[in-house]
Amino acid sequence: MKFILFFIICNLSFATRVILLDPGHGGEELGAMSHVWIKKKGSSKTKNIYEKDLALKLAKKVKSLVSKKYTTYLTRSFDRTVTLDQRAHMADTVKADIFVSIHFNSSTNKKYRGFETYYLDNHKNKAIKKVEKIENKSLSGSDKVVNQILIDLVIQKTVPSSKKLAKNIHKQLAKNIGKKFKFKDRGIKPGLFYVLALSKRPGVLIEAGFMSNPSELKIVQKEAYLNAYAKSIARGIESYLASLPPKDVPLF
Ligand SMILES: [Zn+2]
Repeated sequence: MKFILFFIICNLSFATRVILLDPGHGGEELGAMSHVWIKKKGSSKTKNIYEKDLALKLAKKVKSLVSKKYTTYLTRSFDRTVTLDQRAHMADTVKADIFVSIHFNSSTNKKYRGFETYYLDNHKNKAIKKVEKIENKSLSGSDKVVNQILIDLVIQKTVPSSKKLAKNIHKQLAKNIGKKFKFKDRGIKPGLFYVLALSKRPGVLIEAGFMSNPSELKIVQKEAYLNAYAKSIARGIESYLASLPPKDVPLF
């Protein structure tokens, strides 16, 4: 009897939902980059701000919130290069239920501002194609052709769940980032992001503000902003996961 109970308890532990958080870029791949001037005692020098660092900081904050309730992993926990394929492979290794990729936006137009949440789907929007170009950068041309079939299959399978996850997260963001920080709500959008497609599970890609916009760049580095953003993502993830039917427990 004790033996059976031991196995049931062990198997129940596998029934918790698994979240894989993906801080964008890392290592040699810097992502978006901005310069800021630091004035000190009459002299001034420039400092580089990298998307890879902000994304990691935000992802770690989300992890500390959701890991209280769910099994949570990061695709990288420090500054290192991870390919899109490796990130996707990790989703299989940890048997992730959802994949959340975290990024900050950039544009040649310094006036662009706001936050947006993407889910994997086809579309014909030219503005979105520009964002995809930046985030898909590390995948080679031949891979993109081969993966198109896979992408279509993954889209068919995951669109309703990914869209629902995006809605849950974005609803929190609209309240906590849009209203409190007066950030423009750019909405929920479909996008062909390879990291989402390759992970083959419900997932979203977060763009947490424009690093190319000088006034937004100041705010996105602040702890208060990152904490509020992390809290919104965490609440969105939790409400999405809570809405799912109980996960099958693989007994023995
Ligand atoms: Zn990025």
